[in-house]
Parts: sequence; C-alpha cells; structure tokens
Amino acid sequence: MKEDIRALLGLHVVDLRILDARKDLDAIPAEIESLQKSLSDTQTEAEQNAESIKSMTIARDKDELELKSISDETGKLNGQLVAVKTNEQYAALEREIEHLYGKSSDMEEKILLSMEALEHLDEERGTLEKELRRAEEALRTGRADCEQSMVELKSDLAILEDERKRAQIGIEPAILRPYESIRSRAGGIAVSRIERDACEICYRALPAQRIIEVRKLDSLVTCEGCGRILLWAE
Ligand SMILES: [Zn+2]
Repeated sequence: MKEDIRALLGLHVVDLRILDARKDLDAIPAEIESLQKSLSDTQTEAEQNAESIKSMTIARDKDELELKSISDETGKLNGQLVAVKTNEQYAALEREIEHLYGKSSDMEEKILLSMEALEHLDEERGTLEKELRRAEEALRTGRADCEQSMVELKSDLAILEDERKRAQIGIEPAILRPYESIRSRAGGIAVSRIERDACEICYRALPAQRIIEVRKLDSLVTCEGCGRILLWAE
C-alpha cells in the first residue's frame, strides 16, 4: 500500500506534464488565428485607405474642373465690362463677377483641404504598407514556429504517454481506480501536495492528525476542500 501511494506521486508528475503539453498544443490554433486576424484587420484598413484616396482624388479633380470653369466665366464677364452701356448693367455685371470670386475662393479652400487630407491619407498608406509586410511576416514565421512546436509537443506527448504507462506499473487497482476517477472529474489533477499544512491546490488548512494520516501512507486521504488525494511531498 505504502509504495503504491508513493508511486501515485510519480504518475501525478507525468500527468501534470501531459496536461501542460496538451494545453500548449490546444493553444496553437488560437495563436495562428490571432496572427491571421491581425493581418486581415490591416488588409481591411489598407483597402479602406485606398478607397478613401480614390474617392477623394475623384472629388478633387471634379472641384478643379469646377474652379477652372468659374475662372473662365469670370474672365468672360470681365471682358464684357468694357462693352456695357449703362451704369446699371455695369453694376449688375460687377455683382456677378464678385459672386464668382466668392465661389472661386470657396472652391480653392475646398481643394486645399482635399490636398491636405490626401497628403495625410498617403502617409497613412505608407504606414499601412509597412504594417502589412510586418503582419505577413509575423504570420509566416508564427505559423512555422507553431508547426514546429506542434511537432515537438506531439513527440513529447508520445514520450510522456509511455512514461505514464511505466509509472502505472505495479500500482494496485484499488489505488489507481480512485486516482483516475478523481483525475477525470478534477480538471486532470488528482493529487494535491501538502504545503504549509494546507492543500496546495484549494489551500484548505489540514489538522495535524490528518497530516499524520497522509504521511503514514496506510490509506488514500482526500482533501475535504477539493476532493483530491493528499500526498506529503518530501
Ligand atoms: Zn484541496
């Protein structure tokens, strides 16, 4: 009995390593997914930026044409000034020219703002291109690293499963069965060691008498807090 219970500690250590390796293996798809998401977010931003540059350039070109047509119209009216006969006609023409100057100045202001915005968008385009290259590279190397880790973890797991089989040899079923049943319902961890007179997992304090029982190794003693098998770690 004593040796069987003591052997549980060896099995428990292997099981903890298996648990860690499985956790690392399970985390890999999420790692790749996060790199993919980062790349696709940057791609979306770059597409939006290209779309903004395109539509703003079209609008600016249209405004420039409009400005040219206002300027042509102003030139034409200025030419007509010399030909008018009455003061009223002259004043009316001047008002019209004044109005066109106002429109022209507004349009120039609008074009200037578009140019500034386009300049800003162009800088952003440069930054996004760099980010895109970085994200592509991160995904490429990240994926390669993950694939490498997966190969290593699977090989580690195969070795650990062998170790596990060896660690079980000789432990009698009356000890092994409760161990397995606790392991399956307690998140894969069936054993808890005693640390500072308490369960190392749920921290329930243990009376001195109970610690003595655990140390005797005459029977399986479980924690009243988390239900795990308590073992005294030398
Ligand atoms: Zn406990």
